[in-house]
Formats: sequence, C-alpha cells, structure tokens
Amino acid sequence: MTALRILCPREHTATDEYIAEAAAILRNGGLVAFPTETVYGLGARFDCPEAVRRLFAAKGRPADNPLIAHISHPKQLTELVAEMTPLEERLMLTFWPGPLTLVLPKTEAVPALITGGLATIGVRMPAHDIALALITATGRPIVAPSANLSGRPSPTTAKHVAQDLGECIDALVDGGETRLGLESTVVQVRGKVIYILRPGSITREMLVEETGLAVQGGTATSEEPQDTPLAPGMKYKHYAPRAAVIVYEGQAVSDIAAEIEGDPKDLAVIAFRDTLAALPECVARFTLGERGQADTAAKKLYAYLREIDDLGLMRVLVEGIAPIGLGEAVMNRLYKAATQVKGR
Ligand code: AMP
Ligand code: MG
Repeated sequence: MTALRILCPREHTATDEYIAEAAAILRNGGLVAFPTETVYGLGARFDCPEAVRRLFAAKGRPADNPLIAHISHPKQLTELVAEMTPLEERLMLTFWPGPLTLVLPKTEAVPALITGGLATIGVRMPAHDIALALITATGRPIVAPSANLSGRPSPTTAKHVAQDLGECIDALVDGGETRLGLESTVVQVRGKVIYILRPGSITREMLVEETGLAVQGGTATSEEPQDTPLAPGMKYKHYAPRAAVIVYEGQAVSDIAAEIEGDPKDLAVIAFRDTLAALPECVARFTLGERGQADTAAKKLYAYLREIDDLGLMRVLVEGIAPIGLGEAVMNRLYKAATQVKGR
C-alpha cells in the first residue's frame, strides 16, 4: 500500500493537474476520498470489485449496506440503471446536480457487491466542481459512501477523513469544508408515492412542491417507523461520536442549565445562540446559530461531534430543532447519534 497522497487544490477549485492524478488512481483501482456538497466521499470505480472490497474493508462497512453511485453526466445512467419513469427523470432534471439520491432498478453490469445484494442501485450527481471533474476525468461512475469509519460522524473536512481513513486509502483531495454537511436525501418512487429512505437537504416540502405527490417515510422520530422501506444503512447506529449524546426535543435552557450545575465536568453543549447566552459559563459550547434555522446545525453538527471527541469529553447535550424542512434531516441524524432522547 502506498502512503496517503494529499492533493490540495488551490483555493479549492478543480485544477487539471491534481484531478488527472486522482482520476488515474481511481482508474487503476485505487481509493480516493474527495469533497462533495454534502460530505466527503470515499471513491472507487463501480466496476472494480477488488477496489470495492477494499472500500468496504477500509470503512468497516457491513456488506449489506449498499453504496451510492456518483455520476457527472446523465449518459452514465445507461450503464447503471435498467429503467426509469418520467417522474424519476423529472426529479433528476430538477434536483441534479444536487443532494438527491434516487434508488432505481439496477442493470446486470452493476455488481451485487455494490448494492448489498439488492436489485436496485442508488444514484446521484453531486453539485461540486471537484467531484464532477474527478468523475468525468475517471470516465466511469464512482461509488462513494461517506469517507468515515462506519458508525462515526460523516466527514465534512479533509482532516476528518485523514483521522478516520488516512492509513488505508490512496489519495485525499482537500476541497475545504463541505457546503451542506449532511448526507444526501435518498428517495425511491413507488407508483405515485415518493418514499424518503433517508432525509437530507432536498426536503419533503421541496419534493411535494415539485411533484404534488404524496411523500412518505423519512419522518424524524426517535422510534424507527415499521411500515416504510428503509435504506439498509439506516438500521445501523450511525453518526455517533464516542461521547454519550443526549438530545432534547425543543428549547431546553433550564434542563441544560441544571445538568451543567449538577456536573460541569466532561460536558459539552450544542445549542442555539439564545440558549447558549442564557447558560452558565463553564462548558464547551457549540452554536447552532439562530433558533428556527437548521442550516448551521446541518453544516456543523458532525464537526462539533468530532471536536467533542477530540476534547475527550464524555457527554454532549444537544438542543433539537423542529423536524420540518431541513430540520427533519438534522433530527434524523441526532436520533441516530443519541444515547438518550428527552422529550418536551
Ligand atoms: P452513505 O453513502 O454512507 O451516505 O450511505 C448511503 C445510504 O444510502 C445508506 O443508508 C444506504 O443504505 C442507502 N442506499 C444506497 N443504495 C441503496 C439502495 N439500492 N436501496 C436502498 N438504500 C440504499
Ligand atoms: Mg455514511
């Protein structure tokens, strides 16, 4: 195995020289981590079983958790997808490039290794210059799960990737901090219903507005819904730091203040600006920005959880947000990370 090559694009824009180098590594069956608009992905050629096996091993990812194929042009769909409906095409036209993964029937050319034995494949076109240039230069669709060790918070900076996978991948393209910070929305169309298998930045409201159809699944609750099809990956404990995560559903100034006063050691708080301002001083604090807005929570949550681990803190108290719009995806990830949920 070669030492990790860190490729640092100037000002985080796609430049020919390093894209060519990273693409050559992928073409030859190597593993390259790269930025997307959601989180960093760990890329491998979809048609190179050796590389895909190494990818699963590097992440410690269970074999039944399928990989999302990333494309840079719709013509690459023919190799991956057996059929699609006008509605699915419309979703692609509207939301690609962007953080929407569509689960579609796969072709024979897609190895079962990638899809965890399923007859479907998840596909998306990322909205990121570096990711698109890299896929185009490689000339093949690239499977790219989040570039973290399985179960850890997804990486939103190159440093996070190096911490988790530095020893076992071939190259890492540093594109700075990712813009959105949460993984893509995963959907599957069944008849006239769109199922959200994993909520993300393309929200339920956006899907309803675009299609006028019923959108089901994906609801952020602390209980897993039983009657909706889940992305296999969602059944695993996810996104979790080493610290115990206690999630409060809604504004929680007095509850958090009482915890701090009871035991201020080893404690971090992630909360909205107004809550932080009202709390006692003595803890590691991380802001979610203005109450009611979910974008800072989405962008920073994973980085905060990792930083809390780096600080060696044992407990983190997190203020929740209403599960509407992007808040649904934020709460979904918080419930996955939580050791305890305290309701209102
Ligand atoms: P990651 O790439 O680490 O963000 O995880 C990909 C997510 O998409 C996991 O939750 C997978 O279970 C889900 N996924 C990928 N492909 C499929 C598929 N064919 N059917 C259902 N879920 C999928
Ligand atoms: Mg992942």
